[in-house]
Amino acid sequence: MTSMVGLNIVIAAALGVLALVCAIASLSLRRNVPLAWLAGGLTVGTVQTLILTFAAGSPLEYFSAMALAPLGFLFANNAIHALMPQSGGRRHFLAAFAGLSAVATALFVLGAPFFYQALFVQAACTLAMIDAALRIARTMKWRLLDTTLLASVGILALLRVARIPLLIWYFGPEAAFSDFNGSSVELTLLAVESLLTLAIITLVIAAIIGETIATFRHQSERDGLTGLLNRRALDALANIPARKAGTVILCDIDHFKLVNDRFGHQAGDDVICTLANILNRTGYPAVRIGGEEFALLLPERSMQDALDLAEMVRARLQASSHPGLPVDERITASFGVAEYAVGATPASSFSNADAALYLAKNAGRNRVMRAGESEKPLPSRHAA
Ligand code: GH3
Ligand code: MG
Ligand code: MG
Repeated sequence: MTSMVGLNIVIAAALGVLALVCAIASLSLRRNVPLAWLAGGLTVGTVQTLILTFAAGSPLEYFSAMALAPLGFLFANNAIHALMPQSGGRRHFLAAFAGLSAVATALFVLGAPFFYQALFVQAACTLAMIDAALRIARTMKWRLLDTTLLASVGILALLRVARIPLLIWYFGPEAAFSDFNGSSVELTLLAVESLLTLAIITLVIAAIIGETIATFRHQSERDGLTGLLNRRALDALANIPARKAGTVILCDIDHFKLVNDRFGHQAGDDVICTLANILNRTGYPAVRIGGEEFALLLPERSMQDALDLAEMVRARLQASSHPGLPVDERITASFGVAEYAVGATPASSFSNADAALYLAKNAGRNRVMRAGESEKPLPSRHAA
């Protein structure tokens, strides 16, 4: 019994410290929602464990079992939903959870035997666990962390489901709160559930940290307007010596300043996004270098492949219509293509590609030119 009290104090301290860590982390991550729900759930868990340890047998324990337990499970469920958002409402779950809690409250008001009240409270908690497990199963990416989290939540849900028939079998339906309270079956179940809950919480915190780092990393590498890679990502990507020769394409929208001047900045942004989408659909790393200038990295592709691809992008942009512009208003871009040798970095070919782009502009725009080419624009028949 004393060892059980000692274990409970350790669990309460662990839950309390984790609640504090989650609350601080949530605030420092600009009110991270999953962490805030987790901090709430952990605070409830801490209070519950303290009541169980120091106020056993008092009305507080009854309150803890009947009111705090479902609240803790609801907060944990909210944390999982906030962490793994998915379209489609949670109305069915929330309605069922509220219904079960309402029935438990009504039974309490009517003075029904404790067992029946507990049955509905347990059902509400179990529902919250099953719903959370389903959400993880639906959105998981089959990483080790997701799989372990799903297994832990599944086992906890199973334990809670097994708890109801187990308690009926052990105590009988007429059992009072005092029979159940403090029994070895209850304490063992609680200890196993607490340890499992701690494992789940640790995994959820790890998942939240992982998601947060991934989000920040994505934001630091992506351009806000187009979602393409940004200059920083390009610097990292293009400065690795290549194992095989490859090519790069630089492109720049023609007379873009006029687009802004004639149709407004928003229309200009839409044109930038249209070209970004065309580049993105090529499947190669596409970068917005800045303003209306872009790069495509083509590892292991030949000069001819790069010229063909640039020509395809050029033709698609010219054929596109743009929101905010008259339907027949044509937007074009100029392209410079250069290659790099095996062992060189893609970045080493940028100045050559830029020189080719400059030539394409001078030769009349709306064309593709290769590095080293002088007066032979490709393909001259498309020039404006
Ligand atoms: P050229 O054919 O020689 O490339 O002419 P240009 O007008 O396209 O070239 P210039 O570099 O003079 O103009 C680029 C313009 O792009 C100037 C700037 O106001 C505009 N710009 C830069 N970034 C953005 C942006 O994010 N959105 C919009 N709408 N305009 C931008
Ligand atoms: Mg331009
Ligand atoms: Mg420019």
